[in-house]
Amino acid sequence: MEIYPWHNSIGMRLLENKSHLPHALLLSGRKGIGKRDFGLVLAQSLLCQAPVENGVACNRCSSCNWFQQGNHPDFRLLEPDSGGEMNEPDAEAKGKHPAGAKKPSAFITVSMIRALLDFTHLSTYAANMRIVLIHPAEAMNPQAANSLLKTLEEPIPDTLFILISHQQHQLLPTIRSRCHSIAMPLPSRSEAKEWLQRQQVDHPDSLLAQAGFAPLAAARLAEREYQARRHAFLSRVLQEKPLNPLALSSDYEKIDLSWIINWLQTIAYDLLSIKLTGKSRYLADCALDLPECAKRVNLMKLIDFQNELAVIQRHVNHPLNTRLVLEQLFLSYLEVGIGHQAASHG
Ligand SMILES: [Zn+2]
Repeated sequence: MEIYPWHNSIGMRLLENKSHLPHALLLSGRKGIGKRDFGLVLAQSLLCQAPVENGVACNRCSSCNWFQQGNHPDFRLLEPDSGGEMNEPDAEAKGKHPAGAKKPSAFITVSMIRALLDFTHLSTYAANMRIVLIHPAEAMNPQAANSLLKTLEEPIPDTLFILISHQQHQLLPTIRSRCHSIAMPLPSRSEAKEWLQRQQVDHPDSLLAQAGFAPLAAARLAEREYQARRHAFLSRVLQEKPLNPLALSSDYEKIDLSWIINWLQTIAYDLLSIKLTGKSRYLADCALDLPECAKRVNLMKLIDFQNELAVIQRHVNHPLNTRLVLEQLFLSYLEVGIGHQAASHG
């Protein structure tokens, strides 16, 4: 675990001022840039009994040992059952929720917050402070958020709350206003690429583009099984004729919906881009004949389709019925013109 270079100056500033920290921090920014690791390193460093020169954890004292083993008595990490990784491609590969199994809860519940309150009323054990990390804060359901709000309104001495958020506009404004907010930046593109190369990841440019330039997300996408699934999906929806939306929905309903949306968004983006500029951005690695596909595209329908994807993406964590969502999506995709048997030149 490390503070990534692009978050280093923020980390140093917080650790230098550790005796004057507010009682709640809100770290917000794009998913997949290392905010959770940052929060963990910050917590470990603040609890460490013998921090090194710049305030970073020593990794040797008993406090650091407890922390690394996940049982520091003055630290709590609050995440949904899914570990806050519902939409990350490696969650399934790690066996966290195999395809077909019931998905774990995506929410932080009020009972989890209440259990915290017991913890914050105990006296501290090793350090003279206790720390609660909530990741991601928008996973709190409304009752949980209200319960936390009461705590933030009457700060508990010697207790630091670290809230991490990928979508801070989804938080209650009253929670946001009770926290000291820090915007966690993305690295520059060259910094991100350099970091991926140090992780020995192949095709860093393509992965960064797929991951919206979030380097940790890009590193997870490098996983071979994910790339194989993505490639199978892209080949099928771009080449199969006639495309059968119902069969496709049934084959893909067990796959994480956010992946499908992301793949369809990259298709829509690239087809539009090819029509307008002749260049593709996301699918350049796929060896598919995109210009040929683009010829069959109905431009107005393609723009409608992009809008539809954007609407669904907002609710991707709470679909009412994945199968129905997929059927509707694939029917709309068919309208765009690629999967028709008789090519229509639109
Ligand atoms: Zn230590």
